[in-house]
Amino acid sequence: MRTLIKNSVFYLGKYLGLFALARRINRNKIRILCYHGFTMVDEHLNVPGLFIEPQVFAQRMQYLQRKGYRVIGLHDAYLATQNREHDSDRVVITIDDGYFSVLKEAAPVLKKYSYPSTLYLTSYYFDKNCPVFTLATGYMFWKSSVASADFSMLGIPELSTESACTMTPENKHRISIAVKEHGQALDGNAKRIDLLKKLGEILKVDYDRLNQYRIFNLINKQELEELSNYGVDIQLHSHRHTFPVETDLARKEIRDNKNAVNPLLKSPMQHFCFPSGVWSTQHWEALQAEQVLTATTCETGLVDEHSPVLAWKRILDSSRVSQIEFEAEVSGFNELVRKIRS
Ligand SMILES: [Zn+2]
Repeated sequence: MRTLIKNSVFYLGKYLGLFALARRINRNKIRILCYHGFTMVDEHLNVPGLFIEPQVFAQRMQYLQRKGYRVIGLHDAYLATQNREHDSDRVVITIDDGYFSVLKEAAPVLKKYSYPSTLYLTSYYFDKNCPVFTLATGYMFWKSSVASADFSMLGIPELSTESACTMTPENKHRISIAVKEHGQALDGNAKRIDLLKKLGEILKVDYDRLNQYRIFNLINKQELEELSNYGVDIQLHSHRHTFPVETDLARKEIRDNKNAVNPLLKSPMQHFCFPSGVWSTQHWEALQAEQVLTATTCETGLVDEHSPVLAWKRILDSSRVSQIEFEAEVSGFNELVRKIRS
């Protein structure tokens, strides 16, 4: 219902010419789009905020072209803000994490339009040939159609009495959280893969097939090269997809990320994206010490030379975002509404 009302307001705004007006008012601001994964099977139905169907992504890219937006690289956007160069209707395309689907689904579309893009690659699961543990766990519970299950054999102390658990939505939620927490605390990825295999047997969702689909796997070294050949610019996103506020720990995340990826690139990574969008000004010391030029967040907004370079806002796009909502953000209509409200 809320979405319906919201979309009706957007359609009215567009019809009244307010999108066009907002675009003119915000013409010198830069729109940084943010994507994550691109659906290869049904993952946007499981985590709609993280995935987008390839045909919807293609529609968005076509819209940018049709409406005359100019897609520029992230580094060029940085230089433009530093030099206070004004230009109209600039868009930057960023993609977080580094899922295999970026190569399989997004890169060909970006190439078709000759759009530059930046991939923020988190490196722990890079070149590992296994799915991201928490996503695979959530997906298995979502996909499972068993009526009840025995979780007592998983080796998780708090689930030792769950030998005949009815799979209600509440139980699925509770048990998946326990599995995720246990798995994340395990030392070594091999143990996490074992846990996923056991979980798959219990839930009747085959781990090997999930791994073959690669829907939650990150790219490997060869695929990184292929993406670079597509013209995708690779940048920092921390090693373990976490970014502590303690400067030493934060710097270690950046250095581990650099060590894993920089040797494979032609030019060193200088731009950063806060993992899960969690950020504070306390992080800036570490970023400055590591000579990071820009850092993007998951807060919604447009960017200009007055925006702090280590907290650039973006426009998050996913299968949860309707086309009219996307247009409302890109035109700057929503930016105008936010400005009026604040
Ligand atoms: Zn991320």
